[in-house]
Amino acid sequence: MAASVTCKLHPGHSLKRHHYGGEEGHACVCALCERIIAGAGYRCGECGGFDAHEACLSLPMRVAFVGHPAHELTLSLLTASRWCDACRVASHAGRCVYRCVACDFDVHARCTSLLDGEQQHGRKRGVARRVGMAALRMGLFGLRVADAVTGGFGSPVIEVIETALNL
Ligand SMILES: [Zn+2]
Ligand SMILES: [Zn+2]
Ligand SMILES: [Zn+2]
Ligand SMILES: [Zn+2]
Repeated sequence: MAASVTCKLHPGHSLKRHHYGGEEGHACVCALCERIIAGAGYRCGECGGFDAHEACLSLPMRVAFVGHPAHELTLSLLTASRWCDACRVASHAGRCVYRCVACDFDVHARCTSLLDGEQQHGRKRGVARRVGMAALRMGLFGLRVADAVTGGFGSPVIEVIETALNL
């Protein structure tokens, strides 16, 4: 891990490698995936207002998402609360989501399968990125949308996923 990095989502400040061990006084949540950070991560060394997992900082800025095939989505910092169009859970200012501003479409990074690819493949970041993109195209939300549009693939994969998540 580099001692300090910059992130387009928190411009003007450098992020410093930080060990999240509880001495912050409250649980620190990653701005990109909104999961609690325990152990190594990056924190803004200037305002303390941005925390992120190392893996999450390598998320691509722009992605093609099958759940919104008309436009690429751009990873964006929220300035107001917005609903995720996949899970319907709101995120708040200071967090990051993938957005299509023109269509008012928002989706969490964690709802795209990109982050699951990162976790499953751990440190192999190059591999994880490619797997993540493949997973994104086949993402749960995308499958559900494609299913609705086409009238169903009849794929056992869709049924298995839906059963597993009790959707
Ligand atoms: Zn994260
Ligand atoms: Zn800052
Ligand atoms: Zn979501
Ligand atoms: Zn759009």
